[in-house]
Amino acid sequence: MTVLDRIAISAEMAMAQSQPALLLDRVRKRYGASFALDDVSFSIAPGEVVALLGPSGAGKSTVFRCISRLATIDGGRVAVLGQDMAGMDRRALREHRRGIGLIFQQFNLIGRSTALDNTLAGRLGHAPTWRVLLRQFSADDRQLALAALDRVGLLDKAYQRADSLSGGQQQRVAIARVLAQQSRLVLADEPVASLDPAAAANVLGVLRDIARERGIAVLCSLHQTDLARRYADRIVAMRHGKLMLDQPTGTVTVPSLNAVYA
Ligand code: ADP
Repeated sequence: MTVLDRIAISAEMAMAQSQPALLLDRVRKRYGASFALDDVSFSIAPGEVVALLGPSGAGKSTVFRCISRLATIDGGRVAVLGQDMAGMDRRALREHRRGIGLIFQQFNLIGRSTALDNTLAGRLGHAPTWRVLLRQFSADDRQLALAALDRVGLLDKAYQRADSLSGGQQQRVAIARVLAQQSRLVLADEPVASLDPAAAANVLGVLRDIARERGIAVLCSLHQTDLARRYADRIVAMRHGKLMLDQPTGTVTVPSLNAVYA
């Protein structure tokens, strides 16, 4: 079975799952006396791209931190791929994090390493410790990473240093990394905030396409409502830690979005 066959099968498995890839059920997170998240509920299906909107301080980063369990919740429930996060031991948590791909505003690549090595970093959670320590990846891992770079249109840049690439190309390497990781859920925290409009559109287009192809659920925080309307299947908006809106993108009106930022 080729690497590409394996990718296709895992996408089918993800699509076949009836459970949401991500579920937040009445989640609360408190800092001191104030709630950063106050009864927040929403879910994301496999293959669905959800834009998370809201003004600064709305609680978007806190949502990401609670899902990756960098912050512990004070109430409610978070489940990833049907698995409840409460009470996970360290091993289960490691497994859980392996299934979640992270994309950041500042790309978080190793600048002096090649695009291929940065993509291979997505395999670290899958490789035995000795391979990680020696940074010796299997032929399968390398094939997977090259296929991922090819998918984001960067195969010809595989051996170029990451810091020699444009911002948009670096973010596409970050997408290749989550593909190599075979993530089922991708959390993208302001992934296009440092890009020009053309590069931003290109990156979000690639993210949406791979989500659909491979059944990856994507939660993507954005500042620009126009990009959310163009690239997301659904819009979830927050304000002061509360959910203001959760609707298919086509049904979201401009006034209802403006009310979130008013
Ligand atoms: P956003 O990402 O939408 O800008 P955040 O999730 O960063 O919002 O913040 C939501 C609220 O939680 C804000 O009022 C912020 O001040 C507060 N907050 C976030 N992290 C902490 C923290 N570590 N300690 C205290 N308050 C925090």
